[in-house]
Amino acid sequence: MHLSRFPRVRLGHLPTPLEPLERLSKRLGGPRLWIKRDDCTGLAGGGNKTRKLEFLIADALREGADTIITQGATQSNHARQTAAAAAKFGLACHLLLEDRTGYTSADYRLNGNVLLDRLHGAALSERPAGADMNAEMAALAEALRGKDRKPYVIPGGGSNPVGALGYVNAAFELVAQANDRGLQIGHIVHATGSAGTQAGLVTGLVALNAAIPVLGVGVRAPKERQEQSVLDLATRTAHRLGLPGIVRREHVVANCDYVGQGYGLPTEGMIEAVSLFAETEGVLLDPVYSGKGAAGLIDLVRKGFFPANSDVVFVHTGGAVALAAYRAAFGQPDHL
Ligand SMILES: *Cc1c(COP(=O)(O)O)cnc(C)c1O
Repeated sequence: MHLSRFPRVRLGHLPTPLEPLERLSKRLGGPRLWIKRDDCTGLAGGGNKTRKLEFLIADALREGADTIITQGATQSNHARQTAAAAAKFGLACHLLLEDRTGYTSADYRLNGNVLLDRLHGAALSERPAGADMNAEMAALAEALRGKDRKPYVIPGGGSNPVGALGYVNAAFELVAQANDRGLQIGHIVHATGSAGTQAGLVTGLVALNAAIPVLGVGVRAPKERQEQSVLDLATRTAHRLGLPGIVRREHVVANCDYVGQGYGLPTEGMIEAVSLFAETEGVLLDPVYSGKGAAGLIDLVRKGFFPANSDVVFVHTGGAVALAAYRAAFGQPDHL
């Protein structure tokens, strides 16, 4: 597969490490667990959006854009990484932030990703929960065009066939790492939201005929809807790669049992997962995505879902910057 055919800028510190989780594996007593450190992509706190932005920013530059517009929740990691990428390429950046949780604490509204959005020079504006964010971005783009700007709109999560190429690339990278060390991956597990990560991974793995199943752990939508959006995007991504029809329905599997009350709302499983990774491995997960993804991983290990003598790779998609915004969820005393 010749990904160099597609315009790409360099933003990530790649390849990201693939590391064993020895203490956590021993603690849980199931399969051998590994971690693909996409929290270490290097751009402004790292995370999975950096890989997508390598292709999205290149596409924006190819179109002659001078301004990037994107959207996400208040504590969006995608918004933060987009602001950093835009800064690096001298592009203006407008972030539309949807108040999806209704949280009013200063930590949530001003710290974590929001603090970093501002440090990267992005213009922030807020929209109420349930707003049509695509329509809001289109309206802003129209207004900016009226002022002679050249906006480029990146969808939420950077999830379209351009952004998903970043995770096709990640699939190639991960399989090469496994081949190098003679590791036979039994399963890949990661948090899935706007679907670009899973769509790219699945498409890349199928293109390689790797026969490695991917399990997306949902953070928002119910299973049926999540799987449909991953399948739709994977289908379009395969088409873009010149491999139409390679991704089939059965390649796309999501487990949406770990969402809890809703997007961005803490669960007990998430709190346990964040604490367990921090205390046994020195790895920081996040409250919205990787923490819920790892909660699913841990629960499924305990239920014997993965064969005991297999190797399971958890893709750490990043997000620890948001921990500062969720201080209250961790029930800690307000003094040292
Ligand atoms: C965006 C995000 C995800 C989900 O990735 P999608 O491509 O949107 O499905 C997972 N983890 C973190 C930390 C994220 O920021």
